[in-house]
Amino acid sequence: MVVDYESIRHNARLLREKLAPGVRMMACVKAYAYGHGTVETARALLDEGIEELCVATVEEGCFLRASGIHAPILVLGAFPLEAADALVEHDLMATVFAASHVAALARAGRAQGIYPKVHLKVDTGMTRLGVRSEEELLDIAQMCIAQGLIIAGVYTHFAFADEALDASFTDCQLATFQRTVSRLRASGIEPGVVHAANSAGILRGPSYHLDMVRPGIALYGYHPAPQWGQAVALRPALSVFARIVRIAEVPAGTSVGYGCAHICTRASRIATLPIGYADGIPRAAGRGAQVRVGEFAAPIVGRVCMDQLMIDVTGSAARVGDVAQVYGADTGRAGSLQATADVLETISYELLCRLSPRVPRVVAQRQDEAGI
Ligand SMILES: *Cc1c(COP(=O)(O)O)cnc(C)c1O
Repeated sequence: MVVDYESIRHNARLLREKLAPGVRMMACVKAYAYGHGTVETARALLDEGIEELCVATVEEGCFLRASGIHAPILVLGAFPLEAADALVEHDLMATVFAASHVAALARAGRAQGIYPKVHLKVDTGMTRLGVRSEEELLDIAQMCIAQGLIIAGVYTHFAFADEALDASFTDCQLATFQRTVSRLRASGIEPGVVHAANSAGILRGPSYHLDMVRPGIALYGYHPAPQWGQAVALRPALSVFARIVRIAEVPAGTSVGYGCAHICTRASRIATLPIGYADGIPRAAGRGAQVRVGEFAAPIVGRVCMDQLMIDVTGSAARVGDVAQVYGADTGRAGSLQATADVLETISYELLCRLSPRVPRVVAQRQDEAGI
């Protein structure tokens, strides 16, 4: 895998241009920074002036701290109560929406002589995490203040921002959120940093940006809704390559892989790549996904194995030792990560996050300079 951190920085600059002055950016580096490497990605983004980071789990936050990252970090998931001490000790901001969260953090804060910082979460339509009403938010906020927690922010998450051009559901979520935050203010409680927008919310326009935005996928170069078209010149940062380790010249009727799921309908050249589902390539990728060997688009054939997969290179000049591009950064072409996501009816996010740490990572300034 080749990761071009300069592309990530470029994407951060592009997104920044869309923000009004003073709007903060909190970069989403959960799930190994969507497969790109947590620490390298975080450092590149902090260098670029990103103010804050967010992750999904307490462990991901602790890992960033252990790697010497001092920026503010929000844990987006519901934390296990027994992780309250670790949250406070590592100066991680927790997402809070239940009395049990407040009690656990308050206890940990008292034990360590620290006022823990939290972000309150409001569920405005995702039905995933958060308080469900203005009254509930007010109750939790008052509990926080009474028990010595600092309300650093209040946020919500858009359910529909990446699906449709129609903005009505998202607008309804935003209105509910703003009403809920106003109620808090009217009760004399300062909400801190107010935020809602994921990548899709950022690209939809400034009315969704509020005090801070939380981009994930766009930083890595993918449009959250590719069907919108490339309204913004994002650069995918990651490519995956594998070298052909064997080519078999086989007659028509030869079966390929487990379950003999593919039968060659003609005399074929079947090449083997040393990358499989343990590396993150979906097992079902043989149902239509392609890789590229030079300019040749080669279909994956049969079931992807744990450590290997087979491609059909009949009619190409492919040889053992040639490099196949398994996931390309060149969106729009056969063999690009986006094309494979489309064929497999999934999204770029899933293919990126599935990439296993087993895949060796090469850092490139530019992909064509990676020596591959
Ligand atoms: C993952 C996540 C994001 C980033 O979403 P993208 O669609 O990748 O921009 C933002 N906020 C929350 C709460 C998330 O879980």
